[in-house]
Amino acid sequence: MPELPEVETIARTLAPQVVGRTITSTHILRPASLAAGTALVPALAGGRIQHVARRGKLLTLGLAPAGSAGAFPVPVPGLPPAALYLVFHLKMTGSLFVHSPDAAPGKHTRLMFDLCRNGVAESRLFFNDIRTFGYCRVMAPEDFAAWKFFTSLGSEPLSTDNQNIAKALGHGKMRIKAALLDQRRLAGVGNIYADESLFRAKIAPQTKTADLSRTALLRLAASLKAVLQQAVRECGSSIRDYRDAAGNAGAFQNSFMVYGRKGEKCKICESPLQCSNVAGRTTIHCPRCQKQS
Ligand SMILES: [Zn+2]
Repeated sequence: MPELPEVETIARTLAPQVVGRTITSTHILRPASLAAGTALVPALAGGRIQHVARRGKLLTLGLAPAGSAGAFPVPVPGLPPAALYLVFHLKMTGSLFVHSPDAAPGKHTRLMFDLCRNGVAESRLFFNDIRTFGYCRVMAPEDFAAWKFFTSLGSEPLSTDNQNIAKALGHGKMRIKAALLDQRRLAGVGNIYADESLFRAKIAPQTKTADLSRTALLRLAASLKAVLQQAVRECGSSIRDYRDAAGNAGAFQNSFMVYGRKGEKCKICESPLQCSNVAGRTTIHCPRCQKQS
């Protein structure tokens, strides 16, 4: 599933294609893909897209009503202000692409939004999702307070200092891999960047958080940020069919030290990498390099 670097890349590549455009109509091909229901769908019409943002693995489009001066009384923590939001969770296979205004839906198209600029039909935003685990929510700013998944999201690792990342990860009885994946502690980390940051910090994924020293937690915080920053610079990791909203693949998969390398040799010590199940997820690590606590 797209993690922080991939969603950030999709947001950055989608923004120039949709910001400033007005939604003229919404086509619902699969109603269940609208997780918050359809009540606010009519309110999308005439809304102008102000910004594309990311919170954790969520991608948001913020809208202002036609002719609005841009003053929005209800702020949403962690998101730029807007009168109405389209919130996408891409999950396993969700994707967002902009096509020509008359493009026909594909087999896996779940939603389409017609966009116009200066009164002229310009394009059509597609939400495609093969496995249908992804969703879109149409939300007013005041709706976010009642959405527990959103309000319980932890801090953004790239804008949190190492001390606070160490604090967010270093409590409780979880294994450190599970703590990294826990979106309530830090938002946006998934299987790829959990395994890669643990390798770089030389920490075994099954180590209990309580058994990690402060030094180890700070090293992990620094590794996590370095890995995420590099992945954002390289436009994410393309495994399976991930593409950004401009249709380009990412390049960070070329820097994987452990993820997806089951049975291969460690790039540092040449020991065979070990595959195990931690926190219900396939986990790859080097038993020789990842021993520190
Ligand atoms: Zn090794």
